[in-house]
Amino acid sequence: MHKKINIYDLEVEYDVDYRDIRYPRLEFRTGNLLLVLPKNTKDHKEVIDKHKNWIYRKNSEIISSLKESKDKKLVMDRTAEEFKEIVKNKVNLFLLECDLNINGVNFRNMSSKWASCSSQKNLTINTLLKYLPDRLIDYVVYHEVMHLKERKHNEKFWGIVNKKFCDHQKIEKELFLYWFLVQDLIKNSGKPPANLYIPILFPCS
Ligand SMILES: [Zn+2]
Repeated sequence: MHKKINIYDLEVEYDVDYRDIRYPRLEFRTGNLLLVLPKNTKDHKEVIDKHKNWIYRKNSEIISSLKESKDKKLVMDRTAEEFKEIVKNKVNLFLLECDLNINGVNFRNMSSKWASCSSQKNLTINTLLKYLPDRLIDYVVYHEVMHLKERKHNEKFWGIVNKKFCDHQKIEKELFLYWFLVQDLIKNSGKPPANLYIPILFPCS
């Protein structure tokens, strides 16, 4: 059931879902907060209260990203074939540069991330990335390829990413903004945006 609550000066909308789990989990989906709670939770508002600062911060970030994303434009004239070609060339280039290898590259419409890299060395690229500017595609590919060196988003990983993209924090923020635009596009195309999560950072692994 859809609910609303005031946290400081913000009115936050949320849904509650009770499941067979042990610990509560909070996530933002398409801008709305979802509370996934253990079935025996007595008062869901206690959970909100405990995490109200986190909720407030994330909600504010989403609001400002929505505003900022209005100034960005999607790339609409790139075909799926062109996009795959761009990605494959970049993957090969970065593999060569870093003396790494992979099993293959898959393209898939993904609802929660731009890309991923499995421990079996398979790269999966979200086909929706085709609407993004070249530099952001470059970055996502590089980011994933570098996961072959380091799986986690730790200091070592960001150090590696920093060698090629010293502005990676800015790029990650842009990727976040573009996520909203792509989401809008899907909505307007008449296809339901299924479970399009909003990645708060860049959840790819
Ligand atoms: Zn990553």
